[in-house]
Amino acid sequence: MPLKRSWVDSANTPEGPFPLNNLPYGVFTAGDDDEARCGVAIGEMILDMTAVEAEGLSPLDDDEVFAWGTWDLLIDAGPADWATLRGWLEAALAEGSDLADALAPLLVPMADATLHMPFTVTEYTDFYAGKHHATNVGTMFRGAENALPPNWLSIPIGYNGRASSVVVSGTPVRRPWGQVKGPDEALPRFAPSARFDIELEMGAIVGRGSEGPVSVAEADGMIFGYVLLNDWSARDIQAWEYQPLGPFQAKATATSISPWIVTRPALEPFRTSTPERERDLLPYLREPGPMLYDIDLAVDLIPEGGTATTIARTNYREMYYSSAQQLAHHASSGCPMRPGDLLGSGTISGPDRDSRGSLLELSWGGKEPVTLEGGATRSFLQDGDTVILRGHAQGDGYRIGFGTCEGIILPAIDKPAWA
Ligand code: CA
Repeated sequence: MPLKRSWVDSANTPEGPFPLNNLPYGVFTAGDDDEARCGVAIGEMILDMTAVEAEGLSPLDDDEVFAWGTWDLLIDAGPADWATLRGWLEAALAEGSDLADALAPLLVPMADATLHMPFTVTEYTDFYAGKHHATNVGTMFRGAENALPPNWLSIPIGYNGRASSVVVSGTPVRRPWGQVKGPDEALPRFAPSARFDIELEMGAIVGRGSEGPVSVAEADGMIFGYVLLNDWSARDIQAWEYQPLGPFQAKATATSISPWIVTRPALEPFRTSTPERERDLLPYLREPGPMLYDIDLAVDLIPEGGTATTIARTNYREMYYSSAQQLAHHASSGCPMRPGDLLGSGTISGPDRDSRGSLLELSWGGKEPVTLEGGATRSFLQDGDTVILRGHAQGDGYRIGFGTCEGIILPAIDKPAWA
């Protein structure tokens, strides 16, 4: 499928992130108006859906879907309305559309807009589904012989995270305090994390809930869209706290997501299969077709006052388990899933050193610091560092871009008097 041409000129470039083929959903404010509005990215513009609806142009039966500055109501409305809206947008923004004159005044330059959380995160679960990542981390934490836990090739392992920790790209992230104990220390201390890290992930947004188990095919159909996700991680807190129940405070500070929801239909041309199974999966986890996506990913690190260095490049197809498999496993116990449930994929590392999706792996636990442009080095994040995740699927003469997922590291708070 080639680039679909739009009457919005800036959408017709082969390397732009937001052509007519994409049409991702976000929430924005612009100018002096602090009312949050629903928007669709098209080229360098945002179509103001809240205004489209107010003008009576929305194709949906319900006339108050976009009035509240969140995509929650469309997500709740279900697949028939999802398809109606996408079909209408594809026609209305296409070259030659007779709606061009009516919609042109409802376009807002993206450069003038501030982006906000596009939906309400009802629940958040993070998985550990990248085999390269799990092998690297397991080797560092437990030794090469015990790198992959015995269950890893059978279960998409995850932990229940905190919806309250999820923030939109651009939100500063403050270095956490926590309980740490170095390998040579007899007792733990309460201190600012000295090994604060990133995790490059994709986030799948559940659009339809469930009350009981679902098949992998049903799970795939329940996913509304995808975002980039950075699971900020305090490795020194994690190393001390994680056994036997997994990460807790190490992952509770913040989880950043990119502001544009790229919907499943936009990614259809980029479906790809998970890697060959090394152990047969139980039938309830077997995929009936390709459920991963070919999405190029990169991580940039910018020190305070410095320039960007791309410290990692990888691809979502490196994952061992797809989001559909994760969702099917999540629901297998009867755990109710809800619209707005966010599923982190797990860190997406590739097989090579420069394709690792965390500083823990890139610096191999701090033993091999990463060198940045200008000569500075990093084992873990320093105050003032900005991290930018980028991603896109490369089509034939067009791209499906995700925009960026960014955050700057603020210093830890002063030591509390009671600590
Ligand atoms: Ca993670």
